[in-house]
Amino acid sequence: MKSDLMPVLFLGHGNPMNTLLDNKYTRAWDEMGRTLPRPKVILSISAHWFNSGTAVTAMPFPQTIHDFGGFPQELYEIEYPAPGAPDFAAQLRKVITSVDVVADMNWGLDHGTWSVLRHLYPDADVPVVQLSIDKTQPAIFHYRIGREISVLRNEGVLIVGSGNLVHNLYEYSWDQRAANPYEWALRFETEVRSLLKKGDDDTLVAYEKMGRDAQLSIPTPDHYFPFIYTLGARSKNDAISFPVEGFDGGSVSMLSVKFG
Ligand code: ZN
Repeated sequence: MKSDLMPVLFLGHGNPMNTLLDNKYTRAWDEMGRTLPRPKVILSISAHWFNSGTAVTAMPFPQTIHDFGGFPQELYEIEYPAPGAPDFAAQLRKVITSVDVVADMNWGLDHGTWSVLRHLYPDADVPVVQLSIDKTQPAIFHYRIGREISVLRNEGVLIVGSGNLVHNLYEYSWDQRAANPYEWALRFETEVRSLLKKGDDDTLVAYEKMGRDAQLSIPTPDHYFPFIYTLGARSKNDAISFPVEGFDGGSVSMLSVKFG
């Protein structure tokens, strides 16, 4: 029997400490986990696997990667032991035809993936596969891959992009995380919401032409490109909602987008 179309999620992950905290973001993630349909596999595109080439984790038991420095020991002790899905990884390498996808046996699950999934699926009982982001390629390349993987929504695959729509750590208030958002950050996020509702993917993909607010919000594209994959995977008929909202440290948007 054909399963229902799975939604697509873009999750603003923010500070890795959200893994351990109880705040308005983590409570909203917990709630999403309780209300989402149960996927067969989660395909995660994390801002933190940003390298050359496109690869998919193909091992049966991906390791939990603690890819950060200077955090409390408790965070380094977190394990997210979700199984991998080698068969699905093989299928994914066929579904993506715009580029050769390498079967990776070394990476695993980085904190872009597990810091949020630990809230959505705390039992770690849904297989998770990560797809890397080729940092040498422009946004349109990532958008095309997003379009190619959208067919997997028919097969119970939950596509998750994990980054942040606004991510400027140069301006981040480390000592005042509840700081009011910068005006440029708020304006850019508002613009993105409006373009999403209009269905204007072209402008969102050509973000480098969106002016100064976009430049300040996306000083480097690592946290924006996961959003581009979810944009590609959306269908014109998808409802759009924002299950998590807010700004962290004034310059990191915690906005999550649910398509479908
Ligand atoms: Zn991050």
